[in-house]
Amino acid sequence: MSKRQPRDIVCPRCGVPSAKVIGRSESQPVIYLRCEDCGHVFSSFRADPHYSGYWGADVAPGEHHYWSKARKKMHRDFFQRFVVRRSGRLLDMGSGLGFFVKAAASHPGWDAYGCEISPAAVKFAREQLGLKNVVCSPLQDVNLPPASFDIITIWDVLDHILHPDPLLSRCHALLKQDGILFIRTPNISVQLLRVRLLKAVGGIRSGTKYMQGSDHAHHYSARSIQELLQRNGFSDVEFVHLHPIETGEGRRGLLVNGAKNLSFQVLRALAVCSGGRLNFDNLFVVARKGTAAASP
Ligand SMILES: [Zn+2]
Repeated sequence: MSKRQPRDIVCPRCGVPSAKVIGRSESQPVIYLRCEDCGHVFSSFRADPHYSGYWGADVAPGEHHYWSKARKKMHRDFFQRFVVRRSGRLLDMGSGLGFFVKAAASHPGWDAYGCEISPAAVKFAREQLGLKNVVCSPLQDVNLPPASFDIITIWDVLDHILHPDPLLSRCHALLKQDGILFIRTPNISVQLLRVRLLKAVGGIRSGTKYMQGSDHAHHYSARSIQELLQRNGFSDVEFVHLHPIETGEGRRGLLVNGAKNLSFQVLRALAVCSGGRLNFDNLFVVARKGTAAASP
């Protein structure tokens, strides 16, 4: 594999045009690079900034309920930690089909809103889930009063956004004082470790998605996402651990989910015992709207 950096790619985090190729997508002409200046890992994937086709042109009724089922325990952990025995307003940025918004709104004392750029997903949320508080628009263009939300969530969206600062700055403005921003995103430390382990055990195998999504513009670490949030005015950044996504059905599903749960318990214990230094779980990031102004 050539380590030569493509000439037209600069680090989207610091702007330095010096990065090493550290991997390639198996399925798309996408390369992964590590900035030689700041260490940030990013990819050559460049989506249309207003790409809204993730869910396709239409989402048929009854489809995709597996998506909600697979995340049920993860969302349950979230609600127990941040929602139960409290009240307020929650906004899910990139709300997709709306399952999380619907689950959040079912908690007494909570108003839940969604913001999503896919017309097909918003149609599904409104017509199939009966949600009224889901808007089809980029968050920056929605007319919402400042300092009006207690919680803003961004599930598996931030890694797709090439320039995340305007979005995070908008989230900061929309949160009440001491409101929290919650983000879930893959952890590059886990992905690179996985690649090395798989290479060591069986070599590179065609068709294996070593880096999860090839359509991720950024691959965050605990350090890089912490810096990104602080740059946008957030403080008290911490990492929590929520139940993993469950997959599969029947006996095989039981085995896979049992193994995932065991692995999760080990990773959580490792992170807790090391004071967060050894975090090989996905990144479940919690940041508070502090008093500091965002950096220019
Ligand atoms: Zn950089």
